[in-house]
Amino acid sequence: FLSNAQDFDFFYFVLQWPGSYCDTKQSCCYPTSGKPAADFGIHGLWPNYNDGSYPSNCDPDSPYDPSEIRDLISRMRTNWPTLACPSGDGNKFWEHEWEKHGTCSESNLNQRAYFEAALNLKNQVNILQSLENAGIQPDGGFYSLTSIKNAIRGATGFTPGIECNVDESRNSQLYQVYLCVDTSASQFIECPVYPRGKCSSRVEFPTF
Ligand code: 5GP
Ligand code: 5GP
Ligand code: 5GP
Repeated sequence: FLSNAQDFDFFYFVLQWPGSYCDTKQSCCYPTSGKPAADFGIHGLWPNYNDGSYPSNCDPDSPYDPSEIRDLISRMRTNWPTLACPSGDGNKFWEHEWEKHGTCSESNLNQRAYFEAALNLKNQVNILQSLENAGIQPDGGFYSLTSIKNAIRGATGFTPGIECNVDESRNSQLYQVYLCVDTSASQFIECPVYPRGKCSSRVEFPTF
């Protein structure tokens, strides 16, 4: 009997553009292992409900245990780098993601399976390549939000949610890409609901 077992309807698989995390008033810090590649990194795999709400922090009795993902660590560093300050090795970020989000899908995926599923999802898509193939490059230029969504839909078959933040000159910039995933975290699906993306109709794609 799992008193904390919670149902959820789907996952958001959320990728972040490091250039846009760093290009804000809050700035960023590179991980202790060095500057990450100029690629989208994983932010998280978030259980969600079809009405847009979501559960969080579902099981205080399931703390993050780095020993469960020891053999995934090199893939984690490459694909799920932390950019928060102060610089860290990633464990704080991964701990936060497991405890806030991962514990809410524990009835489907244990901790190891949760992190491995996110890494495998990242392998199934190449968002940066999809954008570049459509002429949308991280060159500090501005691109239409529609062209960004179309490029990702064309390459993956699914319409993404796009979230923007603002740089110090208050330009809207491409911050996160949301793809929806079935409750076993094995395949992409059409999103039942999209996040409020806060993007202007034209958005900057900053360098990193
Ligand atoms: P935490 O992430 O610890 O909950 O809080 C850090 C805050 O920074 C969050 O509210 C996060 O959403 C916010 N944040 C949003 N965008 C950026 C960004 O581009 N750069 C940085 N450094 N922080 C950001
Ligand atoms: P922000 O307020 O910066 O958009 O989001 C802060 C945090 O709230 C995110 O890092 C994430 O943990 C959570 N969050 C925001 N929007 C969603 C959502 O639509 N679904 C889920 N599951 N979590 C979200
Ligand atoms: P969320 O609550 O939005 O899922 O995750 C955001 C939390 O993770 C914040 O506390 C933030 O400080 C921390 N964090 C650590 N590294 C990163 C990073 O590279 N990007 C983002 N968005 N948050 C990070």
